[in-house]
Amino acid sequence: MWIGTNTDIHEQKEREQELRRANEDLQQFAYSASHDLQEPIRNVTVYSEVIAKRYGPLFDEQGLHFLTFLTDGGKRLARLVNDLLAYTQVSLAEITDSQAKASVALENALAALAEAIRETGARVTFDSLPEVGMGEAHLQQLFQNLVSNALKYRGQEPPRVHVSVADQGSFCCFSVQDNGIGIDPQYKEKIFGVFKRLHHAGQYSGTGIGLAICQRVVERYGGRIWVESQLGRGATFYFTVPRQAGWNFTAEAESTAS
Ligand code: ADP
Repeated sequence: MWIGTNTDIHEQKEREQELRRANEDLQQFAYSASHDLQEPIRNVTVYSEVIAKRYGPLFDEQGLHFLTFLTDGGKRLARLVNDLLAYTQVSLAEITDSQAKASVALENALAALAEAIRETGARVTFDSLPEVGMGEAHLQQLFQNLVSNALKYRGQEPPRVHVSVADQGSFCCFSVQDNGIGIDPQYKEKIFGVFKRLHHAGQYSGTGIGLAICQRVVERYGGRIWVESQLGRGATFYFTVPRQAGWNFTAEAESTAS
């Protein structure tokens, strides 16, 4: 006796396609909206500064106070829109078949953070790092966001940051370890959401998009990102990326699903 099952997944595939299209439309919309918002926001920040400089002396104390709200609000809006644009750019950028030297990407990230490293008295160390199958700019973006957070969320001691790597078959697993304030484990997934922050702007500056960008980058290469941490005990961020360029994670995911 033969027993078999036959499931028609045509409708499910159609729904997936619709969802993918809607998602792409939404990303395109977010990209255009954040791009087009830059110009009017720039006008707000530039002209509120011009007013403060040129007409400041004519304002009373309350007027000056209101003007500060306007300039600070404009600057924050500009930062938010810039970060949102960076986020949507990662989603829409073509993934090219390229190999990146992780040591070069990290050195470039550290050069961009040189001032913050000097100001905080941080010491950043790293193991010997391999080549991986991704765009070098994307890998630099990952290192830059993670090291910059390690410096920003530092504890009482000067920051100590260590970057290392472990072999995971066709993937490499990088880790960025710090000795900072740490994260309550209950928030370890929430922090990767867009605009999700555990502190308000008065405590630590930021827009809450850095980790969402990191997550989007690694997911585009078929990898994943997560954090291990305890409050007050530093944090270690891990991310996996393919060893070889062109590793087709969609094909692999489909073949394991079928
Ligand atoms: P931002 O730094 O702009 O708030 P991120 O997306 O980079 O945005 O980080 C989200 C939140 O995760 C931060 O607001 C912070 O609360 C927490 N976080 C990120 N990195 C660290 C770290 N190395 N140590 C402690 N907390 C961190």
